[in-house]
Amino acid sequence: MAAASISMPRGIPFATFSAANDEAVLLLELIQAKASPPNLISSGNAIGYHISLPLSSDSSSSDETGSASTSDSQASSHSFKMVRWNIGAGAPPTLVDKGLGYTNPDILLCTPGDTPASRRIRDYIKDSHAHITFHPTSGVLMLRTVCNRPIIYEQGDMHDNDLILQLDEWGKGMTCVLRRERNYLHFGPYRFLFTFATQTRQNFDRFTAHMNKAIKSDFHGFSPSRLFNFIPMPSPYHETSWNIWLHHKIPTTNVIIGVDIHTGQPVAVKKLLNKDTSKTRQYVVERLKMAFQSRDTMDSGILNIVNIWCSHQTSPPCLFNASNTDMLDECQHTFYSIPLARYSFLDFPWTKLERDIRLAYFHQTLLGLSAMHEQGLVHGNIRPSSLLVLANATHKSYTTTKALSTKKAVLSLSMSQTGRKPYDATSICIAPEAWEKINGRPRADLDEAKLDIWALATSWLYTFMRPPDNFKIATEHDYLNMQEQVQYRIERISSLGPFAPLLHQMLAWKPEQRPSAAEALRSTAWQPVWNEKRRREDEMKQKRKAKAQSDGTKRVRVLSPGAEDYKTIESDSKED
Ligand SMILES: [Zn+2]
Repeated sequence: MAAASISMPRGIPFATFSAANDEAVLLLELIQAKASPPNLISSGNAIGYHISLPLSSDSSSSDETGSASTSDSQASSHSFKMVRWNIGAGAPPTLVDKGLGYTNPDILLCTPGDTPASRRIRDYIKDSHAHITFHPTSGVLMLRTVCNRPIIYEQGDMHDNDLILQLDEWGKGMTCVLRRERNYLHFGPYRFLFTFATQTRQNFDRFTAHMNKAIKSDFHGFSPSRLFNFIPMPSPYHETSWNIWLHHKIPTTNVIIGVDIHTGQPVAVKKLLNKDTSKTRQYVVERLKMAFQSRDTMDSGILNIVNIWCSHQTSPPCLFNASNTDMLDECQHTFYSIPLARYSFLDFPWTKLERDIRLAYFHQTLLGLSAMHEQGLVHGNIRPSSLLVLANATHKSYTTTKALSTKKAVLSLSMSQTGRKPYDATSICIAPEAWEKINGRPRADLDEAKLDIWALATSWLYTFMRPPDNFKIATEHDYLNMQEQVQYRIERISSLGPFAPLLHQMLAWKPEQRPSAAEALRSTAWQPVWNEKRRREDEMKQKRKAKAQSDGTKRVRVLSPGAEDYKTIESDSKED
């Protein structure tokens, strides 16, 4: 790391890595005496490395080769050149003597040369032991082990248990989020303290500004620091629930932003009051289970649930245990985590799309609704805000027009049966026949699937027009007014022309004239979507074929098989 002095630090200081037991104090003092790394500083009875975020001009402090290979770190490595701090004993003396591979880790934990002391230390600390880096989408600080010596993170796991980081069964280093203001880490007999400390308000502001720029997330248009705490809050404000470190609420919603304590992946956490769900328990449980199962199907069109737990910090939650009747007295809340969506249909920057992919997104959400109806479930209360657009993890930059057009649209399940608010700006999504029944009269004779169809179609309107707030379609006059406006807008967007007949059907005045979700899916209005899907499938098939052929020739050359084997390879590749 570049020379840092206390008076003129290069970069933005934000953390220290200091000794936290006698062994570690002696180790760092020895290193200071023998190697004197500039960022190893002792004062009073503390000794430790001072860690600064390099200013953009110095870019990374470590070489980027062989960097972490998780999909999201690859995703944004271009938009945000990840800073990474390596921790380890450094190159072994034999390599150093040959003049090979001599770059000290940023946090050097061994004395130079082949001495009795360094040999002891290397029993516990490997040349390259671990590294620290920011998560590209949540901005939290991650620790990753890169060797087979375990690292213990005190109270770093669920239920405040100690977390042991080592290589997983695939030989890949485990990760965790450094989520406490003070984090105690054990490397063999050495105990270290990783403390977040920006020292001054000015440094804190500079750090936050840098992170906001670097992360490039666009979750509903909020700057990342409105949603995430990059620097953990002190203990009473620090909260975890199940495997999620909780951060801020999304403004104007009840959704809490959280981060998986192992992967750093951002999620949204929703909370249900068990008392409220007692009457509608079956309703809620069916939906939670369906969304939980859809995590295994990529294209279900339904927003999947990652985890479900309850106030007891157990999963599955008490709510799922039908025999437990005392549940309501003992267990207050059911929580569930879902992938953090970047946009909903209400706030997606539709005008930035370079070609029209609205149809593809409509189709994906209709698939979700159809899957629900097939299982005998209705959604209820579909709004443009329930149609979410998920991040595409494979894209390097999130806001380019290309990235915007390759995301996934999903239907977010509503757990509330009576979610209607007194003032609902999107009341156009309530079908005309429902208005007669709303004031206390039974809804039993309403076809709820057809209410969903109306609500889905009106939610799509928000992608190409802005219906007036609180616009109720309760009379035929209002209805004709709406039809006229929709027709006017559609005529101005040529790509939506062929889609107009289906939309009008779904917005039929009489519920029985609206198609079912399955019928709507069969409409030829989706021809462009089918064509695009076929084009992509063909492309994939070509690629697979080309790969199979090249693999085949490779195998033939390596194995030099007999005639018998050769036939097997041939027939394998023909299957594609
Ligand atoms: Zn419980």
